[in-house]
Amino acid sequence: MADYGIPHISTGDILRGAVAGGTQLGLEAKKYMDAGELVPDSVVIGIVKDRLQEPDTAKGFLMDGFPRTIPQAEALDKALDDLDRAVTKVIVLLVDEELIFKRLTGRRVCRSCQTPFHVDFNKPVKEGVCDACGGELYQRDDDTEATVRNRLEVYRKQTESLIEYYDKGGVVVRIDGTRGPEATYADVVAALGPAMV
Ligand SMILES: [Zn+2]
Repeated sequence: MADYGIPHISTGDILRGAVAGGTQLGLEAKKYMDAGELVPDSVVIGIVKDRLQEPDTAKGFLMDGFPRTIPQAEALDKALDDLDRAVTKVIVLLVDEELIFKRLTGRRVCRSCQTPFHVDFNKPVKEGVCDACGGELYQRDDDTEATVRNRLEVYRKQTESLIEYYDKGGVVVRIDGTRGPEATYADVVAALGPAMV
């Protein structure tokens, strides 16, 4: 979220970094991620709590991929409460499942700089090569068809009820996520307003 000068905290990126680094955390997380299952609450909650101690979160932050379960949301609320802070907005991107399936299974990511591309919707100039840095594009292990089907099932069972959880706090913003990234981003900025904190 460069426009806001706040960090984008992606638990998935943190976990994939740990996997690439071959740390104990990475080894533990990889088996869940490859199967399309959620990494256990205790693991991701610990990661997020550590990350929120970093000074760059002082002005605010964007969480991506977290929370994914009610216990995670409760733990986040508690952690923020301890810091005298709170969740100010929850952005729900509305996209039907078939489109999500196409987006994820067609996604290719740069090994070097993590820039995402898509085999149909956002092709690189040269197939398999990152436009930004010339790095090699690859398909994430959790973007294969079988794993994406399971991720969608896990979402319905464990994550969807979070919308109701946050609706109670009146912080949910619903945005049409079926259009391109620019239009979606403009809607997000309009919903957040000039400042979030
Ligand atoms: Zn790259």
